Amino acid sequence: MNKEIDLLIKGGIILCMDNEMQNLENYQIAIDNGRIIDICPTESKDYIARKILDASDCIIMPGLINAHTHLPMTYFRGLADDLPLEIWLNNYIWPLEAKILNRKFIYNASLHGAAEMLKNGITQIHDMYFDMPAIADACTKVGLRAIIGEAFLDSNTSSPEKLPELGNKMLQMRQRYKDNPLVDFNLAPHSIYGCSRKTLEKCAQIAEETGILLHMHLSETKSEVEQCVQDYGLKPVFYLKDIGILDLPAVYAHGVWMDEEEIELLSEVPASIAICTESNLKLASGILPLATYKKYGVNLCFATDGVASNNNLDILSEMDVTAKLHKVMNKDPAFLPAVDIVKMATCDAAKALGISRKRGSLEVGKDADICILNLSELESQPLYNPYSHIVYAMTSRNVRDVIVNGKIMLENGRLTQVDESALIASAKEQKEYILKQLSK
Ligand SMILES: [Zn+2]
Repeated sequence: MNKEIDLLIKGGIILCMDNEMQNLENYQIAIDNGRIIDICPTESKDYIARKILDASDCIIMPGLINAHTHLPMTYFRGLADDLPLEIWLNNYIWPLEAKILNRKFIYNASLHGAAEMLKNGITQIHDMYFDMPAIADACTKVGLRAIIGEAFLDSNTSSPEKLPELGNKMLQMRQRYKDNPLVDFNLAPHSIYGCSRKTLEKCAQIAEETGILLHMHLSETKSEVEQCVQDYGLKPVFYLKDIGILDLPAVYAHGVWMDEEEIELLSEVPASIAICTESNLKLASGILPLATYKKYGVNLCFATDGVASNNNLDILSEMDVTAKLHKVMNKDPAFLPAVDIVKMATCDAAKALGISRKRGSLEVGKDADICILNLSELESQPLYNPYSHIVYAMTSRNVRDVIVNGKIMLENGRLTQVDESALIASAKEQKEYILKQLSK
């Protein structure tokens, strides 16, 4: 029986990242209608594919997931570096955003960011910014999956009186994009320091009523934690518990300044931490207590944060730096082995986003979100252990193809949905505009 299908990926080493952690060689992945419909030996003749992707001499793995991003900040890359977080935010980013953000700017910057994500092997992001439709449309155009949230900040558009509207807005967004398989939404109170208690209480209520995933910055800097204790008499995690947020599914970005008592409490709730190592190092925010998180079994995943504080969107680099940094922090080269790191970027990240049933591993029935890494380069041979290669040897240079929802969005290093040179030209143009606004 020869079934006609959309795509067949043949050959290579398939890292399934399933419960059995199977690695398959001489297998092929059959994809139809956006899903993986079969993983079978290459000699099987069951399928006639409209497109065959030869992935021999490649690693085929689930697409990488970037669990905390601010996609439209792409145009702020390198604008104001080597500054503390508070000065960077208060003197540069927030005033600039107040002046220049509009739909066109956000859409164009998001196109650029989404394209860059794909080139880094990322198939899904978890975002927080403003103007959700502009980001959703840009991701759809480029072919990147995104869970998008509108950042609630009391100083901004989201005064407590407007909060009921925001709950409705989330539901309207879901309705508007219900037929778009690439887009979903989260609920994103910016942070404890950016939101009043009333705002956070309202968010907890909306999240509980709608089941929407919460997405928030938490304990990124020492001073914000001190501020929380001073203002509310509670450490941040206990404060969130008091408000009623903590018991709801959430992804918390950073989690740097967290003590053992807070981490123990986090391990009892459906919370995950999106580790933003390079952003935290660059802003000198600190190094999170990863060993304590591991000790209590808190779910961990990786994120680049916004490109303005990183300054790239490279999860492979986050994996490499995080692994090495925490080995040295723990004075133990066996700490955080490569296979655990790859799990954090794939199946554990899917768990964090509440999408494990659909993504995070290569299994029959799951969405075909796939990253293919090239092994035919000097730096990727010889190969003894694919996990070690992914974490310590390979870079985004090795990302050859990226498939999202069964469609090839990056083929042989080339974006298939957008013109890369046009994105670069647009970024150069926008730089002039941004500099003009900054000098006003
Ligand atoms: Zn952030």
